Amino acid sequence: MLVDLRSDTVTRPTAAMREAMFDAELGDDVYGEDPTVNALEAEVAALLGHEAGVFTPSGSMANQIGLQLLVPPGGELLVDSESHILAHEGGAAAAIGGISTQSWPSTAGRLDVDVVGRHVRESVAYHTVATRAIAVENTHNRGGGTVLAIEELRRLRRLADERGLLLHLDGARLWNAHVASGVPLAEYGRLFDTVSLCFSKGLGAPVGSILVSSAENVARARALRKRMGGGMRQIGFLAAAARHAVHHHVDRLAADHARARRLAEALAHRGLTDPGRVETNIVLLRHPGLAALAADAAEQGVLISVLSSDGGRLLTHLDVDDDGVDHAIKVLGELA
Ligand SMILES: *Cc1c(COP(=O)(O)O)cnc(C)c1O
Repeated sequence: MLVDLRSDTVTRPTAAMREAMFDAELGDDVYGEDPTVNALEAEVAALLGHEAGVFTPSGSMANQIGLQLLVPPGGELLVDSESHILAHEGGAAAAIGGISTQSWPSTAGRLDVDVVGRHVRESVAYHTVATRAIAVENTHNRGGGTVLAIEELRRLRRLADERGLLLHLDGARLWNAHVASGVPLAEYGRLFDTVSLCFSKGLGAPVGSILVSSAENVARARALRKRMGGGMRQIGFLAAAARHAVHHHVDRLAADHARARRLAEALAHRGLTDPGRVETNIVLLRHPGLAALAADAAEQGVLISVLSSDGGRLLTHLDVDDDGVDHAIKVLGELA
């Protein structure tokens, strides 16, 4: 038995998803003529309470287009120190967007708007750098799948309005936040100027993300996507997979969350996990010899992610069932 808990990106399309891909109507999306892409973009934009959307090959590209829409070159983006935008996108904000970044210190991915507010910089002279936008991540990946509180996000919108700032949401796993909190997607979406979401994480599509915003912003986003080499042609195949995932794989995320909790509770007595911190499908691991533990676990068919000498993580997803969780608990429990 092989149980791959390294990431929720490792899923393979289900038989029903492959069928939807096979049957997809296609056109040239650079001409705006792929009906399946157009349907996906309209549908997800509406779900998020936005006017329009643009399909992208990756979440990183969706994030970077969003940031380029909100922050001009030389302007500052304020972001959590452990965010994907800062830690996992190859410095793209600086390298591609000419965007300067400043961060507030992450506290397990939680959002404290008082802390954020203290980091906002005003432009006081021609040589100073002004904060133009703030980005937050929900759920927070490196924080351990943390769900940001909706009250705090509403406070963030008020702060942005008071200080004349724009807001981007990295919602790669916003689907998980929505299922865990019960907060409608549109309620999250309406608080932000731009929102990115991934279809290729817990939703189980093979490729693809989306950026939603106003119609005017999305028209500019199409030009930015083309500039970065993200203009794609008959990609209705991929949009069909994403649509299938949005229709059939959102509610089932609750099962992933329950399995993550079960893993964390079963392994807590070994000191490996802290069940109190599991809110969605990510379980953080602590162990002094994690690399060795991961190598031994792999030999018994359990793959886990090593992030540092004593830290790692497990993620549950579409391709991990109850038997897989039982097997992982047995193997990791014995090795720890
Ligand atoms: C996965 C992820 C992304 C996008 O990653 P890609 O690999 O570029 O699709 C963005 N933000 C977060 C928090 C993620 O976990």
